[in-house]
Amino acid sequence: MYILLMGPPGAGKGTQAERMIEEYKIPHISTGDMFRAAVKKGTELGKEAKRYMDSGQLVPDAVTIGIVRESLANPECKNGFILDGFPRTLEQAQALDAILADLGIKLSGVINISVADEKLVGRVTGRRICKNCGSTYHVEFNPVKVDGICDKCTGALYQRDDDKESTVMKRLEVYHEQTRPLIEYYTQQGVYFAIKGDQPIDKVFSDINSSIKGMNHDNN
Ligand SMILES: [Zn+2]
Repeated sequence: MYILLMGPPGAGKGTQAERMIEEYKIPHISTGDMFRAAVKKGTELGKEAKRYMDSGQLVPDAVTIGIVRESLANPECKNGFILDGFPRTLEQAQALDAILADLGIKLSGVINISVADEKLVGRVTGRRICKNCGSTYHVEFNPVKVDGICDKCTGALYQRDDDKESTVMKRLEVYHEQTRPLIEYYTQQGVYFAIKGDQPIDKVFSDINSSIKGMNHDNN
């Protein structure tokens, strides 16, 4: 099965991806992982991407798409994948369709884990991270025993700049702007599945499984 996983920051996408990998034994491929792998392997596209990243520039679409093409052609993706972080735009979605057609793959479905923005803001801004061991906590959902101090190593906790309210609001705005056309695109293709992320983790996962059962896996 060939799945795209979408969801705004804080919707629990990472947790669900981990469960899916375990359940379905297919690789989880994020854009970040693909870039790192291409740079490490030293492929032409990897080298090109690195030049942009080193100079703090955005990697152009053509390079990103090339790297996605290389990654999906890997034998480990032959029996399925969970693709995460790509496509982000309609142009990229169309490019992905072309790549999959070349590889003789039909997209099984697109899973979008959604949570209302107000709730996401609370989830993300409540995150605290240990400076020492990197453990993550949440002021409301997973609090520490002693305020500001890591339960595991007594390190000091801090809030990432990315997790501050104004930054989160901005990230969500950008996310929705980018995602809206994709939702439309995949709905028209009949492969779009919306999942309510504002539920217990187990329930979200069982909803994902029901969606996967409802997908068309015919030529996969
Ligand atoms: Zn710690």
